[in-house]
Amino acid sequence: MSLPPSHKPGQLNIGLMGGTFDPIHIGHLVTAEEARQQFSLDYVIFIPAGLPPHKDKEQVSPAEHRYLMTILAVMSNPSFIVSRVEVDKKEPSYTIDTIRYFTTHGAPGANLFFITGADAILEIFTWKDYSALMNQCTFIAVSRPEYPLEKLGEMTEKLCPEMKSKIHLLEIPALAISSTFIRKRAALGKTIKYLTPEPVEQYIKKHGLYKK
Ligand code: NAP
Repeated sequence: MSLPPSHKPGQLNIGLMGGTFDPIHIGHLVTAEEARQQFSLDYVIFIPAGLPPHKDKEQVSPAEHRYLMTILAVMSNPSFIVSRVEVDKKEPSYTIDTIRYFTTHGAPGANLFFITGADAILEIFTWKDYSALMNQCTFIAVSRPEYPLEKLGEMTEKLCPEMKSKIHLLEIPALAISSTFIRKRAALGKTIKYLTPEPVEQYIKKHGLYKK
């Protein structure tokens, strides 16, 4: 993947929206748009995880389905791009490898902002090469309403001031919607209309995803 040619490297702020996206939903899109505006991002690149390192393969839908649903969800927004960098990997995808790919190939010279759920960021000390990772990008930890923010505060207290300044919190009311909630509703045959963009809803129906 490379960025549209009109932009020179070195001048860009790029958001990297990492997640399993099983499925992508309105909360993710509102998050990406809010981050784009608050952090003056030129683009937000959605990166569906291939084989998430901490998840059982059986629990997650095939990467190709999650990738295609992400494409369908972002197609009307010229600032949103989807990357196959993790989907194409045969082995588990670690964020440090993804960030290294973007610093060397995908967006050299750009300022990188990794956007993901606050729950995931809480576990960052367990991620591969986390200190190198924190040197190479800024994190945007996204939380739902009523998320216990103290947990994140306790975690960032353990960091030195320089690293602490690399984690920003973003609270998104629309993130009350979750992928788990959508999967459960789909499994029960309940409507998922308006929780995810219509083309994604149609894709889920057509492929019978999340049926028990
Ligand atoms: P997860 O456990 O599935 O999600 C944790 C929470 O964050 C869920 O509430 C989830 O809600 C939310 N979330 C996930 N991605 C989000 C996003 N981009 N924006 C807003 N909320 C989001 O976490 P995951 O999706 O597997 O992992 C998140 C990212 O961290 C991925 O890119 C993954 O590769 C990376 N990660 C890396 C390592 C490593 O390098 N060792 C380890 C763990 C995770 P929804 O279910 O509604 O999305």
